[in-house]
Amino acid sequence: MSTVTERVTTAVETLAVRLADPVRCRAVATDPGNTDPFREMTPWEPMGLAHGYPGAALFWAELAREDPAAGRVANGFLREAMNSGDRASNGLYYGPASLLAAVQTLVTADGRERRMHADLVRWVAHNQIARADAWLTRLQTGGGVAWGAYDVINGLGGVGRLLLDEQGTDEVDRALRKTMEVFLTLAADTDVEGHRVPGWWVSAAGQPIPSDAEQYPRGDFNLGMAHGAAGILAFLAASVLAGAGGAEVEEALARTRTHLLGAAVRDEAGPYWPARLSFDAWVDGAEVPLDETRSAWCYGTPGVAAAILQSTFAVPDPEAAGTAIEGLRAMAERPQSTWGVDGATVCHGLAGVLAVVTTAKACGADVDVLEEIALEGILKAVDGDLPFGVRHQVRIGLPDEAGVVPYAGLDAVGTLEGAAGVGCVLWDWLRGAPAERSWARTVALQ
Ligand SMILES: [Zn+2]
Repeated sequence: MSTVTERVTTAVETLAVRLADPVRCRAVATDPGNTDPFREMTPWEPMGLAHGYPGAALFWAELAREDPAAGRVANGFLREAMNSGDRASNGLYYGPASLLAAVQTLVTADGRERRMHADLVRWVAHNQIARADAWLTRLQTGGGVAWGAYDVINGLGGVGRLLLDEQGTDEVDRALRKTMEVFLTLAADTDVEGHRVPGWWVSAAGQPIPSDAEQYPRGDFNLGMAHGAAGILAFLAASVLAGAGGAEVEEALARTRTHLLGAAVRDEAGPYWPARLSFDAWVDGAEVPLDETRSAWCYGTPGVAAAILQSTFAVPDPEAAGTAIEGLRAMAERPQSTWGVDGATVCHGLAGVLAVVTTAKACGADVDVLEEIALEGILKAVDGDLPFGVRHQVRIGLPDEAGVVPYAGLDAVGTLEGAAGVGCVLWDWLRGAPAERSWARTVALQ
């Protein structure tokens, strides 16, 4: 019987073997039989961190910390991305910032790609300044906020986190000051319809899709890590820890943390966090039932707890840290069928839970039970016979009477919903904590 460490090492090797060839990766991901039944498209974006070459490059850049040959493979994925002809850009998860995420890790791991690194930092800083300016204008003219202003995936927060590791040039420092101006505005409380509410309230007009605007006619409060307040808190914490804080930033951090702690709901096991709260639910303090949220990285307890825990290293608050750890431990006590977690990938799968566990352990938390459940689930899902070694699972219906959820398995390459992310999470687990300029920055876990 092999040890868990041996099994995880083997799983990382399996994923690496399956993700070694950029041309094959593209061919498998874009096969018409690999179409997402909801998005009606194949899980492939050549310049995307979530579904494309940069995601695989980031995984190989992580492996390059110990194996110089892995750096050459990462380099191959970066070249394919550059040669794809795709010049679109949308925050951290699409375009030059996605490349920068991989290149930062690669430069740190083996010194490769210094030139490309410098060019990307300049481009990304310029773009961030333009985007921050646009949001500041919109906020000042009462246009309200949308996820795109701040979130980890496409907003200023995800890219800002990369730039925190590039401080010291005029462009980067200016981009970070502008970014923080937006975040301080959002973290301040504001008056809406006679109520004092957090500035990250998103009006119906600011909702990302029409059905959300219908569901939240008076707007909503997004609490999650991917698109909500947990992501804001994580960015404020990372800024303080990177020396880009100050009294005003620390106040904003404490205020956002207090709002998140106040939004926790308790059941017999302990606290959990809703995904989103309607304006009315926020004002009335309504308690959202557990089955209306997830317990994943993107939404629910793991992401929120990770943000709170990291924030306590920036601005200490032992009680807040205790509640975050209690939330993670309570989750492990509830049946896994209540988690709303799909498959083994990062965003709302078991790898996201394990990534949070690794960061929580690095923060000193004892979350062994949750760790074992997540790790065993991932190891069960990794299979060398699958095209990329593991599949992203998409729900295609409601649970049957026995509670079994029907899924469609997709072959996806990148970090957020693909095999590369599962590889990164297992790799970090083997190392015990995210390394310097880790991939974990791209999910606000470092
Ligand atoms: Zn998700």
